[in-house]
Amino acid sequence: MLQLYTKCKKCRKEINFFSFASDRFKLAKDQGDAIELICENCHSKENYHVNDIKAEGNKIVNLLALFISIFGTIGIWLFIWDFLFKLTNVFAIGNLIAITIFPSSFYSIFQYSQRERIRYFNIKYYI
Ligand SMILES: [Zn+2]
Repeated sequence: MLQLYTKCKKCRKEINFFSFASDRFKLAKDQGDAIELICENCHSKENYHVNDIKAEGNKIVNLLALFISIFGTIGIWLFIWDFLFKLTNVFAIGNLIAITIFPSSFYSIFQYSQRERIRYFNIKYYI
């Protein structure tokens, strides 16, 4: 899901909405090439062409991904902590530490894919 936005024709404030469309073609197919949006600031109802709509990152979704990766890392550390001192094999300890990298890399992978999806939406114009 992408957060989309455009600027209000009357007051120039941002109008935000969410869509499952991955590009402007899918957005136009779902909702027509002119989308009716109501501005939360001035309450004016206007039609906006799909090419005037842009995708951007969602702060809440971003924060959620960050929390998942932080708590995932802490969770795994708590889980392996007891094992860590019982192990005498250096390689086994190394493997355990390697596991903890997964949740911390989750956030960077998520951010990368999110950036790619936003970029993909914004570069493809509806003809
Ligand atoms: Zn407005």
